[in-house]
Amino acid sequence: MTAEHRADAVQTDREYLLQTYVKPDFVLERGAGVYLFDTAGRRYLDYVSGIAVNALGYGDPEITQTIATQAAQLIHVSNLYHTAPAGELARLLVTSSPAFARVFFGNSGAEAIEAALKFARRYARAHFGEGKTAVVACDGSFHGRTMGAVAITAREKYREPFMPVMPGARFTRYNDVAALEAAIDATVCAVVIEPVQGEGGLRVADPAFLQAARTLCDRHGALLIFDEIQCGMGRTGTLWAHEASGVRPDMLAVAKPLANGLPIGAVLLTQAIADTIQIGDHGTTFGGNPLVTAVAGVVFRRISNPTFLAHVQTVANYLDEALQDLAAELSGTVLELRGRGLMRGLRLAGSAAVAREAAQRHGLLVATAGDDVVRLLPPLIIEPVHVDEALALLRQALK
Ligand SMILES: *Cc1c(COP(=O)(O)O)cnc(C)c1O
Repeated sequence: MTAEHRADAVQTDREYLLQTYVKPDFVLERGAGVYLFDTAGRRYLDYVSGIAVNALGYGDPEITQTIATQAAQLIHVSNLYHTAPAGELARLLVTSSPAFARVFFGNSGAEAIEAALKFARRYARAHFGEGKTAVVACDGSFHGRTMGAVAITAREKYREPFMPVMPGARFTRYNDVAALEAAIDATVCAVVIEPVQGEGGLRVADPAFLQAARTLCDRHGALLIFDEIQCGMGRTGTLWAHEASGVRPDMLAVAKPLANGLPIGAVLLTQAIADTIQIGDHGTTFGGNPLVTAVAGVVFRRISNPTFLAHVQTVANYLDEALQDLAAELSGTVLELRGRGLMRGLRLAGSAAVAREAAQRHGLLVATAGDDVVRLLPPLIIEPVHVDEALALLRQALK
């Protein structure tokens, strides 16, 4: 692609696409492993992964082959019919944890949250009648952009311009057991928590907070929903981020990495909840189609393999040590390290967006979380050598 074509692609995007994102001036064209290449042939080490989506990186032969084979065989028939890949993926997901008995497939994280909210309302109505409709979420939360998901998303900027959103949402303080206790009463049907917050700044839930949420939900007949759309599927070194706490939620929302870039969302739920959902209560045209679920089946098998998870833990420990060295060296710039596994945040003294752009200029893609946190979400397949490379580039960018 010539420089002119490149300018055209940027110009066309800016002229015709609804402008809801700030994008840099390069145009990405191709990916290989943990690297992306723009139309000028420039290489970027990718510590964004399409926002925690491309867990297996780019150009994975098994993913590419599965897409080609399944696309030739059958892409979509709707949920009016059985297909084998959806059932097989459901079996894999449900049997991954003793907590769950069923799964519902949608097309995105927000849809997984919407489904979980509807199931919680349905369950509450079946067991307690009308009026038990409130939902408790945390400060710093992000659950999506639809009217239900955005209602339980803390940032006012995302919510206020669209009021009235779903009524009944209330916010409490993340990791504050006393505040949670005060927020829950008999009118609450669900509590929604990210075991590791993504957009909210990479804060990690204390096991005691999750345990308290479990106890309080049980006491008040509310369902506990964990949003692992970003932190789930191996990103923190275990298959599910909440595993470390020993707490079992009633529902688990999963999405971003599940099909390595094809759109999918899923809610795992208990049999007790499933028992209150009837035919026709919820639905989707595209959700769980054979193409997406065939790919997700491959992704799930790969990531849930103990050898793969051990690799994530090893490389995450290596990253952690490297980040601690960097933070010690640049102690006036990097104020705090956050997150867990391959989901890390650096709280900076200055602007995260400025740091992100400097990193980009040096050939490293990073994300941000809020105004002052740089967010690192590399593909889970990174090796120590990619940590060394990233930290060298980040060091240059932050200096
Ligand atoms: C991205 C995200 C969502 C929303 O997912 P979409 O696919 O963008 O709708 C919800 N919760 C968390 C924790 C997320 O990171």
